[in-house]
Order: sequence, then structure tokens, then C-alpha cells
Amino acid sequence: MTTKLIPIVDQRAASHVPVIPVIPAHRPAPSGTLPDTRGRLLRDLRISVTDRCNFRCTYCMPKEVFDKDYQFLPKSELLSFEEITRMTRLFAAHGVEKIRLTGGEPLLRKNLEVLIESLAALKTHDSKRLDIALTTNGSLLSRQSQALKAAGLKRVTVSLDSLDEATFRAMNDVDFPVADVLNGIAAAHDAGFKSIKINMVVKKGVNDRDVVAMARHFKGSGHIVRFIEFMDVGTSNGWRMNDVVSSAEIVRMINAEMPIIEAESNYTGEVAQRWAYADGSGEIGVISSVTQAFCSTCTRARLSTDGKLYTCLFAQSGHDLRALMRAGKSDEQIAGAIGLIWKQRVDNYSEIRTEETARMKKVEMSYIGG
Ligand code: SAM
Ligand code: SF4
Ligand code: SF4
Repeated sequence: MTTKLIPIVDQRAASHVPVIPVIPAHRPAPSGTLPDTRGRLLRDLRISVTDRCNFRCTYCMPKEVFDKDYQFLPKSELLSFEEITRMTRLFAAHGVEKIRLTGGEPLLRKNLEVLIESLAALKTHDSKRLDIALTTNGSLLSRQSQALKAAGLKRVTVSLDSLDEATFRAMNDVDFPVADVLNGIAAAHDAGFKSIKINMVVKKGVNDRDVVAMARHFKGSGHIVRFIEFMDVGTSNGWRMNDVVSSAEIVRMINAEMPIIEAESNYTGEVAQRWAYADGSGEIGVISSVTQAFCSTCTRARLSTDGKLYTCLFAQSGHDLRALMRAGKSDEQIAGAIGLIWKQRVDNYSEIRTEETARMKKVEMSYIGG
């Protein structure tokens, strides 16, 4: 029998170290082209709009840690919609083109469509519309899809780890039924979201036997299932390399039943590797953050629920942009600070991961956003 080790630590511990960003004296105006130390441009911003969730997925917010005594952020600590919009505008000036709203469960944030409306009114550095996407567990999609679409949301990703009732209920650990997520996906489709992505985190011995059924269910639907390797995000999910099912293994399992052929990336830096069904009935994706690092093309920044900028999913500390905002700094000063942080970025965690680094204190995914 294996024992699950759940360290009792403050889940945001690493992020509590206040790193107040430096405002550089020399602040060239944002040009939309901001390379880090490896030449990676700032292109994507993931925004966590809440650290709360109505699920307790065992690999993300295990009940033993995120229990009734867990201290979630008080409302005053959250970035307001105005603050998020202001930050997004500054990031867009630096080159961000894609926004992903996440959490926690983003649909728990009240009136999220109001935020989406103001983000949709912003422009990229070259005067295009921002591409606004959402990652959700799908539980509230049935109710909210129409409003989200009307507000200007472009794309939706729904997480669903199994179609097997018992497995799914055990993984979300709040006994949430599969059918309600499937209804949410159908509602999003009816509201006009096309090519919905379905994220399935695969954990060995937990849901790996459900991979082929998941692929089969969505084959031909126009939706794209993406199989994600179980990652060592945060400190509380008891990650071990032995629990990871490699993307190569997932591709092998699916290919054995329904032949697939590797497809070209849609764009440089695409996180998922694409595989198309040989019979032309759609595609799947695999996200190999553990077995095949994609740090060399990582253009993603993350803004935590309380306004800290993280330049890597596995970062140990963030840069407190909220402190600058609430201290009354100007757009020009904050943009200068963002520029300096990104210019100095060296992150490449997935390239250097070991069992040892996996045990290091890192911020939780529910706080920093997936
Ligand atoms: N609550 C929303 C959801 O589940 O879609 C959004 C936030 S969640 C943190 C974003 C994504 O991260 C989900 O697709 C989830 O499955 C994935 N995720 C969470 N913990 C993970 C882990 N340890 N390894 C790989 N993916 C993980
Ligand atoms: Fe909640 Fe998403 Fe984490 Fe599951 S993966 S606990 S739904 S934030
Ligand atoms: Fe990007 Fe960090 Fe993930 Fe590498 S480990 S792909 S730098 S988020």
C-alpha cells in the first residue's frame, strides 16, 4: 500500500515573501516586443480571478489541506475588475495578445462577464482584439455560457478527468457528476463556442484506464481533448514521478485503438502537441510538461488573484504589482517595472525538474492559475 504524504504548510507560503518590483529609472515606452533573457517574448497572460473552488481535485486542492479551516484570500486582497483591466492594458502594451482567465474556479467570481466585457474592449500593441479564453471545471457553465459569450469571451477550455462516474467523483472529491460537466460543455457549444478544449489530467492508477474512452467520446464532436501529464505544481498534491503517465504512452494507447498522426503546431509556443485522427475526424492534444519540457518557447506570464506577477508556473515568489498600483504608481512606472521583470526572466523549471525540485515550496496552482 502506498501512503499519500500531504505536507501541512501554508499553501501560499512561497508567495508571501513580498517582492516589491523595482521601478527602473530608464523606462522606454512599451514596444510590444519584450524579450526575456532567452529571447522569449511576452505574449500570454493567465489571470487567476479567485483562489476558491467548488471542487477539491486530489491533484490540485486536496481536501486534507484545503479544508474548512483553510484561509482563502479576503475580498480586499483580490484585484478588483478595474485593477485587472488596468494590468491587462499594461501587459498588452508590452506584447500580450492572449488572456486566459482561470483560478481556482473562475466562474465562482461574481459577475465575471463584466470583467470580460472590459477586457474585450482593450487592444493589443498592434491594435487588434485580445484573444480572451477561460479555463473552467464546467460546473457552472450551463448557467453562464450565454452571458460569457455575449460579453466577448472567445474560447473555453473545460477540465474533465474521466467519463467514469465513480472515478470522476473521486477525483473532484466533492461527488460532482460527469453529466453536469457534459451539460456545461453542451451549453457552451449552444452558446456559440466552437472547438471547445477538454483538459484531462492523467494520473497513473487513477484515471489512465479512461484515456481511450475520453478520446473516443469526443472524436468527431469538433471538441479537442488534451491529455495533461500530472505536474508537481504547488506543495500539497504529493507528486511523484511514478504517478506520471507520459504523453508518449497516452499517444500509444489512443493510436492502438484509433490511429492518429502527428500534426503541425498551430503557432510557435503552442503548449499542446497535436495529433490528428487518421480518418479525419478531429484531433487530440498532449501536454508533456514533465517528459518534454517546452520552456524554450514559453511566453506565458501569470497574475495571481492578489496581483502578483509570476513568470513561471513553478515559481517560488511573485512580483507584487498590486502594491505598486495601490501605492498610486503611474501606468508608465508600472509598465516600466513589468518590462524590467520580464527582461530579467530566466525561468526553465521543467528543463531542470528532479524529484528534489518537486519537493521545493512552490505556489499553488489554484492561486496562481493553471
Ligand atoms: N478550476 C478550473 C479548472 O479546473 O479548469 C481552472 C483552474 S485549474 C488550476 C486549471 C487547469 O490546471 C485544469 O485543467 C487542471 O486540470 C489543471 N491542473 C491542476 N493541477 C494540476 C496538476 N497537478 N498537474 C497537471 N494539471 C493540473
Ligand atoms: Fe478546482 Fe480546477 Fe483545481 Fe480542480 S483543478 S480543484 S476544479 S481549481
Ligand atoms: Fe514556462 Fe515555467 Fe512551464 Fe517552463 S516550467 S514552460 S518556463 S511555466
